[in-house]
Amino acid sequence: MIKKVDHIAIAVKDIDEEIKRYRDVMGLKFLGTEVVEEQKVKVAFFEIGDIMIELTCPTSDDSPISKFIEKKGGGIHHIAYETDNVIEQIADFEKKGVIMLNKEPKKGAHNAKIAFAHPKSFAGVLVELKEKA
Ligand code: ZN
Repeated sequence: MIKKVDHIAIAVKDIDEEIKRYRDVMGLKFLGTEVVEEQKVKVAFFEIGDIMIELTCPTSDDSPISKFIEKKGGGIHHIAYETDNVIEQIADFEKKGVIMLNKEPKKGAHNAKIAFAHPKSFAGVLVELKEKA
């Protein structure tokens, strides 16, 4: 079951520059950074109310985020929804005809289990399912 929005992710070219902007200009609470090897990204999280803003930056040229930034120059990349069970949620989505990019959970930031659904299935928005560790 989908419980809430966990975070909104924004693809950025220069994560240090954008951390300053979101922390110092926007005034959000900075929670720290993490390199997620499996996704080939470095992420920074900020808390705002009971959701987070995630800045995501490629760590290699073959990162999926690199292609996104090349094409669009950055911007909103995905919306992550918290689920209590990512495996069940993948099965439920597939039963309902959603195109899953990950049929098995992957390891995300903070050791969460994550899986992405194709933007075609949700009005052009890349959707991340996230089960907290
Ligand atoms: Zn995310």
